[in-house]
Amino acid sequence: MMATKVDATNHQKISELGERVLSGGKISRDEALFLFNLEDSADVFDLLSWANRIREHFKGNKIHLCSIVNAKAGACSENCSFCAQSSFYQTGSPKYGFVDPEPVAEAGEEAQKNGITAVGLVAAWKGLNEGPMLDEVCARVAEMKAQGKTRPDVSLGIIKKQAVADRLKDAGVECYGHNLESSRRFFPQTCTTHTFDDRLETIGYLKKAGIKICSGGIIGMGETREDRCDLALELRAIGANVVPVNILNPIPGTPFEKNAPLPVLEILKTIACFRFILPRQEIMVAGGRTVNLRDAQSMIFMAGASALMVGNYLTTLNQPVEKDLQMLKDLGLDPSWDSHGFSDQEETGCGKAGCEPEAVAV
Ligand code: SF4
Repeated sequence: MMATKVDATNHQKISELGERVLSGGKISRDEALFLFNLEDSADVFDLLSWANRIREHFKGNKIHLCSIVNAKAGACSENCSFCAQSSFYQTGSPKYGFVDPEPVAEAGEEAQKNGITAVGLVAAWKGLNEGPMLDEVCARVAEMKAQGKTRPDVSLGIIKKQAVADRLKDAGVECYGHNLESSRRFFPQTCTTHTFDDRLETIGYLKKAGIKICSGGIIGMGETREDRCDLALELRAIGANVVPVNILNPIPGTPFEKNAPLPVLEILKTIACFRFILPRQEIMVAGGRTVNLRDAQSMIFMAGASALMVGNYLTTLNQPVEKDLQMLKDLGLDPSWDSHGFSDQEETGCGKAGCEPEAVAV
């Protein structure tokens, strides 16, 4: 990207779209693509300033913090090309069975100490069926709920029955992490052992059970800007409540190990475009933040992010929580997120199993 003066036509168009979003309107796919295709750094900074205004308008200075516990590690049957935990690749990543109560209780204590809203139990497997494992998962969630330190979230893969989603809801799950990963068009390049529609169907069961949806994707896998745009539109269509934006951290041994990193401004621009498309959602910058953004990490809030994954990721390290908390303090941002009911968000999507999202061109 070359540094140039702000293009007057682009400036006017960005401002019109920003004003529309601030007043509760939506942007179209063509308009979103215009934003994703901005090239000049001056235009990108213009876009960031609007994304920041939109974040301020809908979220104030509140920042939602989440952390995760790797609740069952490695030896996964799926072949997701970005993942250290797939059994298809030799990555040296740890392997263990479903987590005992003690580490989960410790994670809850630690999270409360740092003002973290939610702790997510994340399992490396294809999905969850009825049976003893579902009983164990529900027991762990109920323990977290009883401990009362943080909100118990889970990310447990594909669900094929409404009864499973209903059991999780009854155990105390309020929010389920299930990324779409990328656009429908690009998804087969990330995974062939399950489909994009398997993921949408799971989200349908969860919504019907009354569970909030944490769903986003990964950028930097080789997808186009159009793919990133269509991912954001899909997330709007399914009514995701929290939208994690992960940035690929290439893992040696995986098919994406040699992917070139995305430029920092491209990452910030993507976050800003997501804010224009998803103005009321929590946009959470998650995996790959430290390694890809380095000194520019604090710019994510200027780009419209309103949530942060803190603590270590599933198989890679993050910067210490204290450093993140200091970053928020320095920027006058408040990590004490008190609206656990997601009441500031519009609901979209029908909420039925297999519900079709808004049509997204492929
Ligand atoms: S992303 Fe999840 S489903 Fe895919 S290989 Fe990794 S642990 Fe398995």
